[in-house]
Amino acid sequence: MKRLTLLGSTGSIGASTLDVVARHPDRFSIFALTAHSNHEKLAEQCLAFRPEWAVVGSAEGAAQLEARLRAAGSPTRVGYGPQALVAVASDAGADTVVAAIVGAAGLAPTLAAARAGKTILLANKEALVMSGALFLDAVREHGATLLPLDSEHNAIYQCLPPHAAGSVPHGGVEKIILTASGGPFRTRDPKTLGDITPEQAVKHPNWSMGRKISVDSATMMNKGLEVIEAHWLFGLPADRIDVLIHPQSVIHSMVAYKDGSVLAQLGNPDMRTPIAHALAYPDRVDAGVRPLDLAAIATLTFEKPDEARFPCLKLAFDALRAGGTASAALNAANEIAVEAFLAGRARYTSIAETVARVVDTIGHRAARTLDDVLEIDREARALASSLLGAGAGAGI
Ligand code: NDP
Ligand code: MG
Repeated sequence: MKRLTLLGSTGSIGASTLDVVARHPDRFSIFALTAHSNHEKLAEQCLAFRPEWAVVGSAEGAAQLEARLRAAGSPTRVGYGPQALVAVASDAGADTVVAAIVGAAGLAPTLAAARAGKTILLANKEALVMSGALFLDAVREHGATLLPLDSEHNAIYQCLPPHAAGSVPHGGVEKIILTASGGPFRTRDPKTLGDITPEQAVKHPNWSMGRKISVDSATMMNKGLEVIEAHWLFGLPADRIDVLIHPQSVIHSMVAYKDGSVLAQLGNPDMRTPIAHALAYPDRVDAGVRPLDLAAIATLTFEKPDEARFPCLKLAFDALRAGGTASAALNAANEIAVEAFLAGRARYTSIAETVARVVDTIGHRAARTLDDVLEIDREARALASSLLGAGAGAGI
């Protein structure tokens, strides 16, 4: 029986994880569930899965959750705030931590899980983008295990021989190829990108996801963050990571070997597949996903990404090559710009413009400690906010 802490249980990945867990009560049980502000949904999840702990973002939220749970006779204990997240991520009551908080807020609890030697099922790519070196050092030093949930990285993991996190997986690997759907604006006239509304940007053609990552998919910043994530997970340099647009989202990524073989993982675009793979690893379990019908799909197509249409992809490759604080600055500026765009305070095209200016201005320092990373995160948020004409961005 695996005991899970699910960080970000009320989100899209959280809900898919609980769907798989509910199919296998003999294999998985829940130690802790966490949300930020959606204590209503968290209460329903607590009543269904009976965790020992539930954590929310604020004292008021915790009081409301507590009242609801006590009224229903639930024994689940309630905590709140960043320290409670760290506590449930490192508690001995769970052996496996699903890291599915969105954005930089997921870094501290995910790092705590690494330091506690947990098996980490990682969806929160921002943790690796901000501080890949520090994070992998913690994983190695404390004997933690890292299994990727992100569909592309999970696909690559499945196409590689077994290896430790962050190690060069196999002498025979030539490159890894991350596939991308190209998002909702793949064929849109680039001259009209400035007119895009948040409602248009969050409508992904193939995947159903949270709002932030949906915008990142539209700009292809998501693929850029995934390139950086792949670099840390699989230990390959930027020039051995390719991105290929594949609009059907059936091939979730590939590994090209030196002998000319290319291995791919295929499936319907449903996050329950990579989640079930990582949850049950090394076994395989039913994920409730309909079987792939290749005859009905009939055609799989591929194209190179257009840099003019997707400037965020190049910004991310540049940040990875630059090293130091560039990736953390890129990630923080992107979070602020996406937040401003979703709130109607910034145009779609200002996301890439803001990220480029922030990385140019403050992305060139060395990042040796977590404090260096957190400092650059704060500065990048403040600079991005001022460039966008908004107030100070939310820190972590
Ligand atoms: P959602 O926005 O759907 O969910 C985010 C979760 O994080 C919610 O539980 C939310 O709580 C919680 N949360 C938000 N802000 C904070 C905070 N400041 N402190 C603590 N908890 C917080 O996101 P997704 O599920 O789409 O994505 C989660 C992560 O997984 C992201 O890093 C994303 O890049 C990655 N990912 C997602 C994929 C997908 O298909 N969705 C695919 C691959 C990776 P509340 O509900 O209360 O706001
Ligand atoms: Mg992905």
